[in-house]
Amino acid sequence: MAEPKYDLIVVGLGAMGSAVAYHASTLGLRVLGIDRYDPPHGLGSTKAETRITRLAVGEGPQYLPFVKRSHEIWRELEARTSVELLHECGGLIVTDQVPVVGQRWEDFVTQTAAIASGGGIPFEVVLPADARDRYPWITIADDRKVGFEPTAGLVMNERCVEVQLRLAHESGAVLHTNEEVVAIDPDSSSVTVTTPARSYQADNVVLSTGPWIRDLAASEHAEQLTVTRQVVFWFDAADLASFTTDTIPYVMWIARRDEDYIGLFPMPPGGTPAVKIVSEQFLETTDPSSVDRTVSQTEIDTFYDLHVAPKFSGVRRDCVRAEVCLYVNTADDHFLIDSDPRSDRITLMSPCSGHGFKHSTALGEAVAQRIASGKTSGGGFAAGTSDNDLAPFRSR
Ligand SMILES: Cc1cc2nc3c(=O)[nH]c(=O)nc-3n(C[C@H](O)[C@H](O)[C@H](O)COP(=O)(O)OP(=O)(O)OC[C@H]3O[C@@H](n4cnc5c(N)ncnc54)[C@H](O)[C@@H]3O)c2cc1C
Repeated sequence: MAEPKYDLIVVGLGAMGSAVAYHASTLGLRVLGIDRYDPPHGLGSTKAETRITRLAVGEGPQYLPFVKRSHEIWRELEARTSVELLHECGGLIVTDQVPVVGQRWEDFVTQTAAIASGGGIPFEVVLPADARDRYPWITIADDRKVGFEPTAGLVMNERCVEVQLRLAHESGAVLHTNEEVVAIDPDSSSVTVTTPARSYQADNVVLSTGPWIRDLAASEHAEQLTVTRQVVFWFDAADLASFTTDTIPYVMWIARRDEDYIGLFPMPPGGTPAVKIVSEQFLETTDPSSVDRTVSQTEIDTFYDLHVAPKFSGVRRDCVRAEVCLYVNTADDHFLIDSDPRSDRITLMSPCSGHGFKHSTALGEAVAQRIASGKTSGGGFAAGTSDNDLAPFRSR
């Protein structure tokens, strides 16, 4: 039987692609989703069980409608599937009192407080002495600035992908896994997507291939993006029950150098029985095909001695799990979601610079709605009219 022409082909079914496939198929589009592996898998940007989500997004007001809508969608998905996706454990941000100008996170407590106040989101600036009383397991000196958002929390990222793909399939989406897209060729009336198995036709394509995005993106977009290796550690704790999403908030600890940022994630129900702590680095770029996916004992020991022991008491040196995960970054750390220079029929929407998951399902919905309503042209992206407007994320 001849392959039908699809309304939409989604290339890459991770955080962004699974969201687009779910929302587009729910809107009634004929969707084909293709992934080179079988998501959720551990090779791209969406792994390690959990991601931080905050309604007061200090990165800028352009993100607010998306994260707010994502929280609503996750609650809808939880109600439909009885799968727990969002744990509102609260979130703590710790920075220097004196911001470091030009640093990636700069004055993040103050920025977040301003965004929260403008958006009517609860956010409390906490005195270091009070923070020490509330969180005696964190070493917070008087030269730190601390902020707390009660509505922040952790989202189960791999489960979200799984649920969105399952529901997309139930709504009629055709999903092909373990099939790699090797070419995307637009013409005036459609787009041809080629894999080693065959070619497919569609009116629209969403390219959401995460850290592999440079392989298939137009060169104008590809050259704006860098991929970096990030490491996630899980450490044992003296009393694990006091490090759960029911007992403590997550902690974003922002230091004077970008590469000294760390995040502590409480243990969610069903998660790896340990305290997850992430690092961040932008000094060495890499590629998914050549990245070193092993984490050495030296790397673990150095990280523990430099970043964990001085900040968090009760977290033990024993590392029970460590994973490598990949960031895709633009030069200004903001998203890149735009029409492909080769054709308005192709939308690029992966690179989310280490802070994309919390927005992913709402971004998927916005992109799916745009395609469903025929607004696939570059002009459509520039419209700037609706709440969920994608214009701020266009190529800069
Ligand atoms: C360590 C780490 C911590 C993070 N922490 C946070 C956080 O706390 N909060 C937050 O909001 N965000 C966070 N992020 C960012 C967030 O996880 C990412 O923005 C998001 O996961 C990006 O998803 P994606 O869909 O772009 O990529 P992926 O989920 O990697 O999906 C890309 C998919 O494309 C497929 N693919 C690739 N090439 C092809 C091809 N040629 N043909 C077919 N399929 C292909 C891949 O197999 C993959 O399944 C973090 C990221 C990392 C790495």
